[in-house]
Amino acid sequence: MKIHEYQARDLLASAGVPVPPGVMIETFEDAATVYKQVTSEAGTNLAVVKAQVHAGGRGKAGFVKLVRSPDEATDAARFMLTNRMVSNQTGAEGLEVTKLLIAAGVDIAHEYYLAITTDRKTRRNVLIASAEGGVDIEEVAHTRPDAIIREPLHPILGLQAHQARSVAFKLGFKGKQVGQAVKIMTALSKLYIEKDCTLAEINPLITTPPGTPTVPGGSGAGDAPDGQVLAIDAKFNFDDNATFRHKDIQQLFDPAAENPAEMRASRMGLTYIALDGNIGCLVNGAGLAMATMDTIKLEGGEPANFLDVGGSASEEAVTEAFRIILADAAVQGILVNIFGGIMDCAVIAQGIVNAAKEVGFKVPLVVRLEGTNVAAGRKILEQARSEIPTMLPAKDLGDAAKQVTAAVA
Ligand code: GDP
Ligand code: MN
Repeated sequence: MKIHEYQARDLLASAGVPVPPGVMIETFEDAATVYKQVTSEAGTNLAVVKAQVHAGGRGKAGFVKLVRSPDEATDAARFMLTNRMVSNQTGAEGLEVTKLLIAAGVDIAHEYYLAITTDRKTRRNVLIASAEGGVDIEEVAHTRPDAIIREPLHPILGLQAHQARSVAFKLGFKGKQVGQAVKIMTALSKLYIEKDCTLAEINPLITTPPGTPTVPGGSGAGDAPDGQVLAIDAKFNFDDNATFRHKDIQQLFDPAAENPAEMRASRMGLTYIALDGNIGCLVNGAGLAMATMDTIKLEGGEPANFLDVGGSASEEAVTEAFRIILADAAVQGILVNIFGGIMDCAVIAQGIVNAAKEVGFKVPLVVRLEGTNVAAGRKILEQARSEIPTMLPAKDLGDAAKQVTAAVA
């Protein structure tokens, strides 16, 4: 599960990490008022207007804008709420923006990167840090891996004080900044464990130039002659298998930020993930779904989605699954691959017939059915043949993948 930056900043602030004040808005009419509020709170005229979407690369896409007046704030807000954001993390169609954060802006002396995640290779949580943070961190990781510090966390003790201090020195923090950075690293690693995160990231973590006014929540006003260490962007991902034990995190879930088809599927207990290809897949079982996609790829095709109807889907759920696949304009062919173990083939067959009646299959539909109650399933399909003229039976998975790939070619 992902959350928005404005929620992530609140989470950081509640853990004692200094974050400039900010307010989330949903209409540009609120921009001027909020601009005045956050800038007066921070004692500056600089604010930053930021699109709240579950994708990064906003700065380069023009969806993080520095503003110095209520009018500039309003213009930036209007632009972001009326244009889709296309960044290197969104795909060409981009994302609709419905929420913005207006936060007090800060002067930046230096940008750092700081994150905690799980390293599958060492099976440890790991703190990742770099003195070359900001918008090009992926590039740095790629071209200059030596500029990235990796500090494994002890499974029980977590991030220890000596580790945090050592990382702070390696990052080049000086004087009072060292203690501030250590405090932030410690808070971040605690949050990571306590909230069952899969990623807790601050990018950039910054220092302000010496002598700038301090942001509350840090070491206190007048205490930053060396500049203050602040978080000005944050990202948290949570382990979906653990959100049940975090009511506070569940409340942060924003359905508007999710793929609508994926949300629709999850309400029916289906696991659906939208992909970029043109072959819609309906499969039972995640393993079989992966194998089906592999086989399609082997034949030179591209799956339009991953869809696992599970072992005990109802006829309604199967019909809904077809509705979701057929609603995707990119789908030019469908492959149904069912190996009925717990799943009853007759239920799938009836779902196909229902969907044919309701929406109609205008694209080729290749069906491979095997397993529990397969004879009854085949009979249902046979009897509905005239209603589903685009249906092509397949004898096995390889044959099915060949047929559907040829049909969309
Ligand atoms: P992202 O591009 O989606 O990661 O958005 P960020 O919130 O990280 O902002 C991108 C960049 O905008 C940062 O790396 C900074 O260089 C700049 N930026 C963001 N907020 C401020 C601010 O308050 N003051 C200044 N001077 N620059 C900012
Ligand atoms: Mn960022």
